[in-house]
Amino acid sequence: METGKRVRCRHAFEYLCVHANGDVVCSIVDGRGDFVLGNVGEQCLTDIRTGPRVRRLQQLVLSTHDDFCAAIGKRCPLKNVPCQGGDTSLGSLRFLAIEPTTACDLRCLACPVRDIAGDVTWRDAHKDGGIRFLAWDGLRRTKQHAADVVRRAIPVLAAAPPARRGPRAAMLLRGRIPRSRAGTLPIDVLKRIVTEAGPSVERVDLFNYGEPFLYADLLDALRHIRRVMPHAIVAVSTNGLQIREPIEDAIVAERLLDCVVFSIDGCDERSYGRYHIRGAFDVAFANLARLHRKAKATGLDVIWQYVVFRWNDRDDQLARAIEMAEAQGIPIMFDFARTWGRSRRSADEVRHLTPHLRPFTALPGEPRQGGW
Ligand code: SF4
Repeated sequence: METGKRVRCRHAFEYLCVHANGDVVCSIVDGRGDFVLGNVGEQCLTDIRTGPRVRRLQQLVLSTHDDFCAAIGKRCPLKNVPCQGGDTSLGSLRFLAIEPTTACDLRCLACPVRDIAGDVTWRDAHKDGGIRFLAWDGLRRTKQHAADVVRRAIPVLAAAPPARRGPRAAMLLRGRIPRSRAGTLPIDVLKRIVTEAGPSVERVDLFNYGEPFLYADLLDALRHIRRVMPHAIVAVSTNGLQIREPIEDAIVAERLLDCVVFSIDGCDERSYGRYHIRGAFDVAFANLARLHRKAKATGLDVIWQYVVFRWNDRDDQLARAIEMAEAQGIPIMFDFARTWGRSRRSADEVRHLTPHLRPFTALPGEPRQGGW
């Protein structure tokens, strides 16, 4: 980040993200729920949106010049919009993310679902990711347990918001994700928040963590969104394994979605299975190809998203994925992991992927843009 340049995110100003337990946060970056703005089980979305927590969030975002977010005590890749500072005027709500459920059939290596589900331990870390992942995951879990012990022993530390701590103290004092983070949003609550958000919303992301196609009321939810927000773009991101033909047929026939992103990080079982624990490349890819075929000329975009890690970043693997996508006419978009297992390739080595980069994302070491 260029020194002296002030940046903010767009999410604290234009976006809300509703977790499956009802907590409202700024965006997917606060997947743990560290800075909760309110809960839709107890408050209406409008009250949360205009409440003091959102004002405080905006002040915290603007309190640092760089990409460190004082609200969650971490650097945030979405904090990249140049700004003057001081402006906390509340614009209209333009973007809404709803996480229908945290349930997921996968236990991808660096995904928070491993913590949220709470059914994998350090023993699984070794089985799933080998010795290096065990070392990373073991250290992370040990630090979080220690932070919980310290916070219990010294309550004043637990009470202090991340904003009061420096980046290092915030990291050291970050404990485990609470069990209450897991859940499924009741359909009546989901419908109510869509109605409360109103027709001015430009885009609804019906996903966050968890697999949306495991949400039993998915069609009911999508029909309600279409009714209330006929002009909004509606998108879902999926691991591609739980899509059933009757559901996809209804989605295509009724045009319930504008975009379905299949997250398939690899070009074969070997490169895919290293991260997507419990997944099956052939099943995910076959479902992607089938839905893409059915959606042709309907206005529903079906996209293959390939997140690049160090085990799927070889030139031949990237070329093979592009070739497979082109053979089926499927648009493919690459993104680069920033977590454990991130690719070590430089931006110049993979610059040829630029035409296939996900909009607003960046090559390794280069900043994202536009607040996305
Ligand atoms: S900077 Fe990032 S973490 Fe902080 S409020 Fe904005 S989107 Fe959320």
